[in-house]
Amino acid sequence: MFEKTEVDWDTGCFKFVGSKDPRGYGKIYYNGKSEYAHRLSWLLQVGEIPEGKVIRHICDNPSCVAVEHLELGTQQDNVKDMHERGRANPAFAFSERGGKPQHQKGYKQKEKTT
Ligand SMILES: [Zn+2]
Repeated sequence: MFEKTEVDWDTGCFKFVGSKDPRGYGKIYYNGKSEYAHRLSWLLQVGEIPEGKVIRHICDNPSCVAVEHLELGTQQDNVKDMHERGRANPAFAFSERGGKPQHQKGYKQKEKTT
């Protein structure tokens, strides 16, 4: 899989340049199943990922597979990070539009002309 990475010399990230999921995580086919590139990087270089743990990016770069930039964490850690970094639920930014849009009731003519 490492032939599919390129080094970002600014950050030291090994950016995965293969296919990615909508969130920017590298996806790779390995042993007949699709796996996240950063998880595979961990599996190949570090070892097992304990159940309930996730591989997190210290560098905040979802396509990065540099094992030095990865750490074991929990989903809760991820959520906490998002709050601390102010990335949580950007939909909140759209909630102040002055309420729901007014639905205009178009009147329908139901009269039948016979
Ligand atoms: Zn990185």
